[in-house]
Formats: sequence, structure tokens, C-alpha cells
Amino acid sequence: MIKAIIFDLDNTLIDFMKMKRLSCEAAIEAMISAGLEVEKEKGLKILFQLYSKYGLEYQKIFQVFLKKILGRIDYGIMASGIVAYRRVKEVMLYPYPNVVSTLNELKKKYRLAILSDAPKIQAWIRLAAMQIQDKFDLVITYDETRAKKPNLKPFLYILKKLKLNPEECLIVGDSLKRDVAPAKKLGFKTVFAKYGSEKEKAKIKPNYIINDIKDLLRFM
Ligand SMILES: [Mg+2]
Repeated sequence: MIKAIIFDLDNTLIDFMKMKRLSCEAAIEAMISAGLEVEKEKGLKILFQLYSKYGLEYQKIFQVFLKKILGRIDYGIMASGIVAYRRVKEVMLYPYPNVVSTLNELKKKYRLAILSDAPKIQAWIRLAAMQIQDKFDLVITYDETRAKKPNLKPFLYILKKLKLNPEECLIVGDSLKRDVAPAKKLGFKTVFAKYGSEKEKAKIKPNYIINDIKDLLRFM
């Protein structure tokens, strides 16, 4: 019998990619205003190509971007881009549709928790920005175990904190490799949040696949 539902955060509850896209658009526009000579669409395309090469959380992306376009870093242009990026990011931390109402329903019957690879303060900022920080009984982040999914440590740690067995918990996440596979290995029930996932090559079968978070209410 399921007693707790454990959610991944980025691209499961938060529309992280929408935030990323809008922040990047603002950054490119600001860099163009500051003198960068590139077409907006072309600039965006190059920026996202770099993100797919270096990872979406790569912190020096604008340095690499400017080196690619200009052959050097122009600090005035880069600063304009970073400021614009951060401004938009702050206000664009949106939950996916139906997140709040679904959490409210589930909270009546289950304990709810977050298991995120984000640093603790980042995770809490995102929860606060979405105004859902009071929905969870437990929030476990990278800071607690210093291990990232698919490492099994975070999963084992949250079980210990919840004082539950894996089969009493449902894991909901947008990554087959990082959320579903390790959870399945440990005996959790798993839900693949397909709406948030990027294309992944993985032959892992979750217990359920959902296209909207509210689909959880159909079987829970
Ligand atoms: Mg995720």
C-alpha cells in the first residue's frame, strides 16, 4: 500500500525548460542591445547547442558562447546577458499546469516529499517561487547525501527519513535513467512524467506513464 509520493523537482513539478528558454531569449536580446552582432534566432540556436554539449546547469555558458561568436569574451556584453538571464529566471519559475491542485488532492491521502539533485537553497527557492513549499512533508536535496541520481544513496536516504519501505512509496520523475531506473532497482513503484522528459535512450519500464501530473489522480 502506497503511503508516500516522492517527486523529482526540475521538469517534473517545475517547467524548467520554459524558464530556460525565456531566460536565454532575454539574455540574447540584452547582449544584442549591448553590441553583440548576431541574429536573435541564430544566437539562441548556438546557445542551446552549447547547452546540450556542456549540460543545462553549466555556469560558464556565456563565456563559451561569446568565445564561439566573437572569438573572445567581451565582459560588457557578457554582463548584460547574465543580468537579463537572471532577472527573467527569477520570475519564470512556473509549475506545470495542474501541479498545485494535484498536490492538494494527493496531500489528503499521502505523505508528499521532494527528492532533488539541486542544491538545497536552489530547490527551496524554486519551491517558494512556485508557492508550493508548504505541500511537502520532506524535502531532500543534493546537500543531504552529496550524491546525485541515479546513485542509490539519495533514494535510500529518503526511505530512512520517511521510515518506509520502497514498496510503500511512489517515485515520480521525468528521467527514465535518473529517476525510474534506480527507484525500480530498489523496489519503489515508479511513475514516468513523460511531459517533462527529454529524449532518452533507455529501455526501462515504469509502472505508470503520465502526460500530465493530474493523471496521477486516476490511479492514486
Ligand atoms: Mg528532473
